Amino acid sequence: MKLLKQPVDLEYQALSGHFELMQNISQINKLIKLISKLPGLGPKSAKRIILKLINNRQEIMKPLVQTLSETYKNVIRCNNCGSLKSNDANCENCQINTKKQNKICIVENIADQWTIETSSIFKGYFHILGGTLSSSNYQNKQDLLLDSLIERVKKNNIDEVILATSATVEGQTTSFYIQDSLKNLNVKVSKLAQGLPVGGEIESLDDGTLISAFKNRKGLISESD
Ligand SMILES: [Zn+2]
Repeated sequence: MKLLKQPVDLEYQALSGHFELMQNISQINKLIKLISKLPGLGPKSAKRIILKLINNRQEIMKPLVQTLSETYKNVIRCNNCGSLKSNDANCENCQINTKKQNKICIVENIADQWTIETSSIFKGYFHILGGTLSSSNYQNKQDLLLDSLIERVKKNNIDEVILATSATVEGQTTSFYIQDSLKNLNVKVSKLAQGLPVGGEIESLDDGTLISAFKNRKGLISESD
């Protein structure tokens, strides 16, 4: 007689005793450590996420693993503008688009780009520095992709560069350094208005503050200088 294999029910309950059981599984321990490193998540949320994944292997875990793997392989930093791009396509942020303003907004990171895009106040191109210069150390300045920024300004008929670095010492040091690098180009350079809270990061600003900082931005270098 052939034994029919019973499907194993993996409906773990998120009750105290079961967590102890799960913690003896090394893969799960690793997962808890990894997921806890994500923003806003601690070990408790990590365990809830893992249970959800285990209980939805086909519907969530499998496509998540595939998508993460594809993202790991194919989504990279564009070495021209610093934004994210897919290996399979041209960088949307670099592509010349006649509907966009001939302006480049310089931000520290992708989260800042996304925040500004969501607010709809700016319809031009972005340049993502990927960090800031510290006032005592200019060694990482290659990473800021400033050579390609200068090329973009020259080639793409850019009429304004808007500095939107954060109101931290590093953000302002970086902004000053970029301003200096652009001074010999025939381009207007402006900076988001005061009113950004000191230490304020663009990513965490509300739309109202952001829109007002853009509208009241002040010119640092004008085209005719
Ligand atoms: Zn790009």
